[in-house]
Amino acid sequence: MALADYKDMVHRCFRCGYCKFTSDYSYVGFNCPIYSKARLESYSPGGLMWLIYASLVKGKLKPSKHFSEILYSCTMCRNCSEECKFQFHDDIVHVLKAAREEMVDRQLMPPMVSQFLKNVYDYGNPYRELKENRDNWAENTDIRHYEEDDEFLYYVGCVGSYDTVSQKAARALGNVLLRSGLSFGILGSREICDGNEVDMLGEKGLFEFLKEENTKTFKELGVKKIVTLSPHSYNTLKNNYSDEFEVFHYTQLLRDLIKSGKLDVSRGFKAKVTYHDPCFLGRYNNEYDAPREILTAIPGIELIEMERTKENSFCCGGGGGNFYTDVIGGGENTPSRIRVREAHETGASILAVSCPVCMMMLEDALKAEGLENDLAIKDISEIMDAALA
Ligand code: SF4
Ligand code: SF4
Repeated sequence: MALADYKDMVHRCFRCGYCKFTSDYSYVGFNCPIYSKARLESYSPGGLMWLIYASLVKGKLKPSKHFSEILYSCTMCRNCSEECKFQFHDDIVHVLKAAREEMVDRQLMPPMVSQFLKNVYDYGNPYRELKENRDNWAENTDIRHYEEDDEFLYYVGCVGSYDTVSQKAARALGNVLLRSGLSFGILGSREICDGNEVDMLGEKGLFEFLKEENTKTFKELGVKKIVTLSPHSYNTLKNNYSDEFEVFHYTQLLRDLIKSGKLDVSRGFKAKVTYHDPCFLGRYNNEYDAPREILTAIPGIELIEMERTKENSFCCGGGGGNFYTDVIGGGENTPSRIRVREAHETGASILAVSCPVCMMMLEDALKAEGLENDLAIKDISEIMDAALA
């Protein structure tokens, strides 16, 4: 829906501010990542609602460069939709997205957002990498391209395909799937950006183009089931693409493969592990159990929860395009650095993730905090790979 369709709803937000907290409204730290960093009301969900109302709905405030930066610093983490207790709570992130669509229509995005969108349009990925290089990560492995009778398409996504740190998770998952005996393949150079971030940034036209192109490829190849490395891909393929494809996040599939005895984790993995819920698996798709069921099935793992978990999880700061655009900016109180400190406080030696974006964000934060010798970031696919008998 367009922003104009939400105008009454936006007006009904009266800036009580509950949406900044966790569900018990306790002060374990503000749970809106941009407010946590800026500590200014304009960088809070309620503040944003009113800025949107004054500038884009009523036209009383000119949408300035600063307004554009505030709007695009939001990580679309959905904490505000989870915590606002009013009837319209689910619509808060829809309003934020509709406001961005309005900014795209008026060409008022921050330069790094425009550049991101241009890169995806020109290259099919935000890294300006050639599509021929998309499956370089799979060289010297037995991971092959999708064939007609394969049960699953393994959709890797841009981060797992091109980012050298996340490629480790892409390879580990491929290896685990091979060990399970599942028939699957990747798209290689035929895979293009799934569009989740493009959609979150408000570029409807480009999102529709990516969706059509990917759908055409899936149909041509006869794809029925898709497993994704990234929760971002999972979110958009599951909720915004045709429901003729059955879509799984890899943690759901691996959990089932362990349960059915197709993956034997008896070799174990001895470590104290804490787990970070990614917003696009947790708050967007209500999947909190599968990653935990995997970790607790592996002998030797002691799972210790952080204070903020599940629907109260604290975003790493990479959502809503910020992983690429970094509109949110750096510093000691960036969400990823706050989250890494929180993980370290548990006494865990491993911070487990199930998202290549979280992996990169938290890896960088670990270095910035100087905690590399105390804590390691590992994707659950890597832990599984090490635990297989
Ligand atoms: S979005 Fe909901 S919780 Fe947040 S300020 Fe508005 S009414 Fe209050
Ligand atoms: S989506 Fe997340 S970052 Fe954006 S306003 Fe809501 S709580 Fe804050």
